[in-house]
Amino acid sequence: MINVTRPYLPDREKLNKYIDRIYETAWLTNNGPLVQELTARLQEYLGVENLLLVSNGTSALQVAYKALGVYGQAITTPFSFVATTSSLVWERIEPAFVDIDYETLCIDPAKIKDAITSKTTAIVPVHVFGNACDVELIENIASRYGLKTVYDGSHAFGVQYKGRSLLSSGDAVTLSFHATKLFHTIEGGAIIFKKKEDYERAKLMIKFGIDNSDSIVELGINTKMNEFQAAMGLCVLDEIDTILEERAKIWALYQRSLGDRVQILRLNPDSTNNYSYFPVVFENEETMLEVKSSMNNHQINPRRYFYPSLDTLNYINSNSVSQISRDIAARILCLPIYPGMKEQETASIIEIIESCLKTKE
Ligand SMILES: *Cc1c(COP(=O)(O)O)cnc(C)c1O
Repeated sequence: MINVTRPYLPDREKLNKYIDRIYETAWLTNNGPLVQELTARLQEYLGVENLLLVSNGTSALQVAYKALGVYGQAITTPFSFVATTSSLVWERIEPAFVDIDYETLCIDPAKIKDAITSKTTAIVPVHVFGNACDVELIENIASRYGLKTVYDGSHAFGVQYKGRSLLSSGDAVTLSFHATKLFHTIEGGAIIFKKKEDYERAKLMIKFGIDNSDSIVELGINTKMNEFQAAMGLCVLDEIDTILEERAKIWALYQRSLGDRVQILRLNPDSTNNYSYFPVVFENEETMLEVKSSMNNHQINPRRYFYPSLDTLNYINSNSVSQISRDIAARILCLPIYPGMKEQETASIIEIIESCLKTKE
């Protein structure tokens, strides 16, 4: 069975060494030494400051909204994993969808201005599939209208934009370190804040609002990362170069064979590729479904990512229809890509797609 992704398991002996340290101190959670070490190493690796580790990528979004005082309505993209939108609704913030660009699959910045109302307090774009949004334009609009920006950067681990970290643009950027992501801590996530004061507030918020002298100074919740999660993260980070190399190899094989047969993502020319996904947009839904079922017959499981378009969710009452997002969502498939996937497996996936497309000619 080949799935769309396979969680990366780092060297077991190395993991044991980190776990030995946890056993020596019996410090299991509450900003322990491994969480502190991972924080420092991630800040260095990513080239960012004010990085706060949390228990998952969804709570990273929720805490970011709270720490920045987002309320009322937020402009967001309908083409993402459901958590981008559900976290807003959960926090009683109304999502206002702005359609995506046909080729980058990110929110179309040209359409943002028209969606701003008196209730809008923030823009929540997604660097979907690791592809950089037009951050300059978005930041411009946000500052002109006094809006906060929270980027869902769950797919953008390590992406550089114009020579610096993509994750340094925005009032906050969130990451998911779920097992299926490029870099993971089993479950986990992070928020990167532009301002130190927002970071400090969020740091209190994730531990019940209790400060270092045991006073309750904020409304808080519990969404701390624990030491076992950090141990996994430190091991995976040790091997990140290998992970990226292996992904790049598979990505290049797909690109070479499929690049001019199907629509693939137009990557932002100013940003690096982290090879986190290989999305393919077929001519129509029927072809996509044929390819998918043909792969399923060979024990291969690509995923319909992202489907459905989030403006169609049953708990959303939106008057606007995100036509492009709906159209892409109906035709897109993410192909398997993960370290350890064999060249032969990639080749057989390509072969299946080619033979499906051939019957269409
Ligand atoms: C994975 C993901 C999330 C959710 O992260 P969890 O760590 O699973 O809570 C949010 N947004 C996007 C775009 C994601 O891909």
